[in-house]
Amino acid sequence: MAKIIDGKAAAARIRAELAAETALLKERGVIPGLAVILVGDDPASWVYVNHKKLACAESGIYSEEFLLPADTSEDELLALIASLNNRSDISGILPQSPLPPHIDMNAVIQAVSPAKDVDAFHPVNVGRIMRGDYAFLPCTPAGVMALLRAEGVEVAGKNCVVIGRSDIVGKPMAMLMLHADATVTICHSKTKNLKEICRGADILVVAMRRPRFITGDMIKPGAAVIDVGINRDQNDKLYGDVDFKSAEPVAGYITPVPGGVGPMTIAMLMKNTVTAAKMQNALLMN
Ligand code: NAP
Repeated sequence: MAKIIDGKAAAARIRAELAAETALLKERGVIPGLAVILVGDDPASWVYVNHKKLACAESGIYSEEFLLPADTSEDELLALIASLNNRSDISGILPQSPLPPHIDMNAVIQAVSPAKDVDAFHPVNVGRIMRGDYAFLPCTPAGVMALLRAEGVEVAGKNCVVIGRSDIVGKPMAMLMLHADATVTICHSKTKNLKEICRGADILVVAMRRPRFITGDMIKPGAAVIDVGINRDQNDKLYGDVDFKSAEPVAGYITPVPGGVGPMTIAMLMKNTVTAAKMQNALLMN
């Protein structure tokens, strides 16, 4: 039976720590602020934007939401980002994905000032992640590392397998584990012998967008299994990329979906927003 890692509780602890920190910053006249931009009315994105707004309130962060119609042009969106780059009360800017297809996500990512790029998607911040010289930690991978740390799961020297090589999860995840001295294998849709590779993992991070793909027979007994996947069934019920039912009896540690990595991603976004405010007010060397 695996120890179930409670990401909700860990995220609440981080928000409480941030609330204490932002209270001290307020005494110095600094209030971190996060701008979230949503283009269109994707229902899942609405839910995420609301979660972020609540997390800001709990962490002592000022938040502002920009809810733009689906036919907003790329130029209009870039103009909004340019104005937010220049606002001193906004420390972090987050364009919520997905954006409508007529907007180039790369142009949007590059329009956000690297100093306000709390998602850590801008090429400048991606380069810093490669070097291990972080301004902002990538939110989801940082959330995974924080959960492993909180559970006392040693990463150094371990065989870590990351399934998925996206720019937002798989690649930065592998980098953080490498910087933490793990031996890292990255798998993707062309990987051969996935089951065999997974069975060699002391820590298995699954971010493949394939509902319940990883089953108990693919897991090394006692391994830490981190399920990043978020999938929805017809009734809007959330489940992960790991088949929890067959994986849980084999694993040593496992994250549930929901209540595992998801809340930690938002907590790390809050942390990055506070870091951004400190950097912009020269309260942090970077
Ligand atoms: P993505 O861009 O769709 O990438 C999926 C990755 O999985 C790709 O690299 C793909 O390989 C690989 N893959 C797909 N099928 C595979 C297979 N049969 N065997 C091995 N690898 C396979 O997804 P993403 O943006 O990284 O997100 C991954 C999941 O995490 C999604 O469910 C997403 O909703 C979730 N997510 C959760 C959070 C959170 O806060 N919990 C945050 C972000 C994302 P190729 O590169 O070869 O196509």
